[in-house]
Amino acid sequence: MTNKTRSVAIVGAGPVGALMAVYFANRGWNVHLYETRPDMRLPENKAKIQNRSINLALSVRGLTALKGTGLALDELIMKSGLPMRGRMLHIGREGQLVSQDYGVHGECINSVDRAKLNEDLITAAEALSNVHVSFNLALKRANLDKGTLELENKITKEVVRAEADLIVGCDGAYSAVRNSLMRYVRMDFEQEYIPHGYCELSIPPKIGADGKPEFAMDSQHLHIWPRHKFMMIALPNPDKSFTVTLFMPFANFEAIHNEQDLMAFFEEYFTDAVTLIGKDFLIKEYFKNPKGSLVMVKANPYHYKDRCIILGDAAHSMVPFYGQGMNCGFEDVRILDSLLSEFNVKSTKQGDSDKSLEQALQAYTDRRAKDLKAICELALYNYTEMRHGVTSPVYLMRKKIESWLHLLVPTRVIPLYTMVSFSNRPYSEAYGRHHRQGFWLGVAGAAVGLGTAAGLVLAGWKQRRQLRDVGELFKAAFLNAAHSVQKLVQ
Ligand SMILES: Cc1cc2nc3c(=O)[nH]c(=O)nc-3n(C[C@H](O)[C@H](O)[C@H](O)COP(=O)(O)OP(=O)(O)OC[C@H]3O[C@@H](n4cnc5c(N)ncnc54)[C@H](O)[C@@H]3O)c2cc1C
Repeated sequence: MTNKTRSVAIVGAGPVGALMAVYFANRGWNVHLYETRPDMRLPENKAKIQNRSINLALSVRGLTALKGTGLALDELIMKSGLPMRGRMLHIGREGQLVSQDYGVHGECINSVDRAKLNEDLITAAEALSNVHVSFNLALKRANLDKGTLELENKITKEVVRAEADLIVGCDGAYSAVRNSLMRYVRMDFEQEYIPHGYCELSIPPKIGADGKPEFAMDSQHLHIWPRHKFMMIALPNPDKSFTVTLFMPFANFEAIHNEQDLMAFFEEYFTDAVTLIGKDFLIKEYFKNPKGSLVMVKANPYHYKDRCIILGDAAHSMVPFYGQGMNCGFEDVRILDSLLSEFNVKSTKQGDSDKSLEQALQAYTDRRAKDLKAICELALYNYTEMRHGVTSPVYLMRKKIESWLHLLVPTRVIPLYTMVSFSNRPYSEAYGRHHRQGFWLGVAGAAVGLGTAAGLVLAGWKQRRQLRDVGELFKAAFLNAAHSVQKLVQ
């Protein structure tokens, strides 16, 4: 019996599909990547392609998966990435600035150009001799038992047929592979639109004293205008502009009918942004740019036998508020690859008794489901935090205590944002730990409160009797409280 090299058909050459192609090629498989859109690297196609956002935040999970290709793709992408070390809040009408660092050790997330990242990954995949990329081909349906795909040529409308040992769906939130997969497995499936949508705007560079373009705001922050029921954010771009995204309920978008409505709305809520964007440019962009919807998709299982698996948004589309959608999709790729190694899946099938691939895909569904559920929930939770929580004194107090404790007992107390964005710790573990820490932080908060009150009472008493230094007592009370909390969490 001859052992044939395994073939994989990856549907969707978005960021996740293109990265998956590199990983399978590295394992020695024959890879065919199918993409419905035209080749985005060709200048004539650039204007035709509508991306979901202009830039996005790349963090540790995404970088780890890029690095795992062994092709230094993390370095390639980071060449044009802009580090953002914290949030810059624009509070109130006038936009008073408040900086909140993301990590206590200066950790950064990175603003990257989505189109360039996708193009670089397709180029990296195509450079490998065992990868073939086809554009303008949209999957219509797949027969998973036979391993056949039916695709439509978007230009000629012809039907093209293809075959593969394994079909991998990386075709986004409205996945055609997932639709086929549903016919083969009892898939639990949920799709939910949140009532909020988004509109992209931009802040152009300002011209500096030397006549060169400069950032109009601090470029090392992700800027947020939290307005409780809605918010606006801005991420820096290498050309010194900022891409601004306004997130708000569709009802608010629909209430803006004309220039007067728009300007009244912006003058009321985002006064400083009007100056930064420029009134005419704001009007032009707001009415020209589409208002996108935000969908959440949950599915389980993610695979069928040794025939098919879905990854990235096809398996778990989440709201974008943790900046994790793509990072998580990249992590899917890394984890699938590590399972193929764990189950010793070879690039050739070792006879009919070779169940290694099926076992690896089953392990993926079994191990990944709780993490994907957790990050979808965290992403939704973070919307409330970004548009509202960041301005609340209770939230700020918790953050401060959490940061102190993280410095004091770094392995015991880890802020949620650090676990999600600056580590590869499983999302479900981060989620569980955050809840457990919440209890101890409550204890710490109460201890600090009691310590402070006790300190003040004592100070008042001593002041009358001995005029001792109130500050010293206050400090001692606080240190006592912190010490007892340290003991509790150890
Ligand atoms: C406003 C916004 C901001 C975001 N910001 C961030 C962020 O800061 N950080 C982050 O990590 N994530 C972010 N995300 C999420 C991120 O965009 C997605 O998670 C990511 O694009 C998913 O990648 P993907 O390759 O799985 O799917 P997609 O990017 O959707 O790519 C799917 C590909 O499949 C192709 N395709 C679709 N159907 C077919 C078919 N039938 N046949 C062939 N090809 C097909 C599509 O053309 C596309 O190229 C954001 C999302 C939004 C909406």
